[in-house]
Amino acid sequence: MDLFKPLESKGEESKKGSAESSKEHVKVLIIGSGPAGYTAAIYAARANLSPVLYEGLQPGGQLTTTTEVDNFPGYPQGVTGPEMMEDLKKQAERFGTQVRFGMATAADLSKQPYAITIDNDKVITADALIIATGATAKYLGLDSEEKFKGQGVSACATCDGFFYKGQDVAVVGGGDTACEEATYLAGICKKVYMIVRKPYLRASKAMQDRVAATKNIEVLYEHNTKEIVGDMSGVNGAILTNGKGEEVKIDITGFFVAIGHQPNSDIFKEYIDMDETGYITTIPGTSKTNVEGVFACGDVQDKHYRQAITAAGSGCMAALDAERYLGTRIF
Ligand code: NDP
Repeated sequence: MDLFKPLESKGEESKKGSAESSKEHVKVLIIGSGPAGYTAAIYAARANLSPVLYEGLQPGGQLTTTTEVDNFPGYPQGVTGPEMMEDLKKQAERFGTQVRFGMATAADLSKQPYAITIDNDKVITADALIIATGATAKYLGLDSEEKFKGQGVSACATCDGFFYKGQDVAVVGGGDTACEEATYLAGICKKVYMIVRKPYLRASKAMQDRVAATKNIEVLYEHNTKEIVGDMSGVNGAILTNGKGEEVKIDITGFFVAIGHQPNSDIFKEYIDMDETGYITTIPGTSKTNVEGVFACGDVQDKHYRQAITAAGSGCMAALDAERYLGTRIF
């Protein structure tokens, strides 16, 4: 006997108007289409849970903004971010995941079944919810930064640092991430400038010490980026202003922005425990949140690792946790 309410088929749904489709109910709803969301979908679909996945504003997530991915196991020749995400999507669909375009715009997690509003319109209810909405890297907001994204401007040193082997690069920011990225890049690149707007680093003492002990990092305190410059082949420099308001030019081929990430968790904040910056808190060693039947995976709950492979691993955990949860409940 099926203990769950019936899942409408995609075909039926598309025939109905939005009022009727608002009655749609699913066993497992996954929000987000990065490595975490798709991996959760692969596991949930293979467990016969008929998951529905909403892709969000950026189908494929942050990886679609990177070029080569060389550190995801299983791709000996590397793979581009968009290709890998397409593969993950196909794999999720192969086992019956319904992947849909749409953005979760509101949530009601006050009672079962949980209700998620898509695109401010359609409401879909679910017995189990997997939040895989990721995090968005913050950028400075310069036009030149936008122009050279993927051509020298990056928000992920572990993803893209290798391409700047032996070259001079800059990292913007003075927090733990910037220090970590700068020390990582220092092992690959000839020279790393840190562009720090304050006269001190915000990072922990341990990270500051690591930066200070790394000979090829030069910290430019009280410097701000005015413009990133380059040509058809990408970035070749940056124009900064120093504490006296003077312009300084540095010659670099890579410009790494490390001024923080914003977890995409806003719509859940009324219900789900989070830290002060909005990262969802999960019970250690699990994907469980404080709300029973709601699980979180990927960057929305991980401010430390933020790797495709760790996100994928946590997506697997979320699907297994959801499967066990559903197996012990009668709806
Ligand atoms: P943070 O918010 O801690 O630091 C952001 C840095 O970027 C600050 O130095 C800030 O400057 C600077 N910044 C922000 N906006 C701008 C701007 N517009 N122009 C120039 N600089 C700017 O973010 P992180 O990502 O570094 O860290 C987030 C959290 O994750 C922290 O709690 C951190 O401790 C943690 N973390 C821990 C790690 C570890 O333990 N290994 C590794 C990475 C992160 P200002 O100081 O002037 O505000």
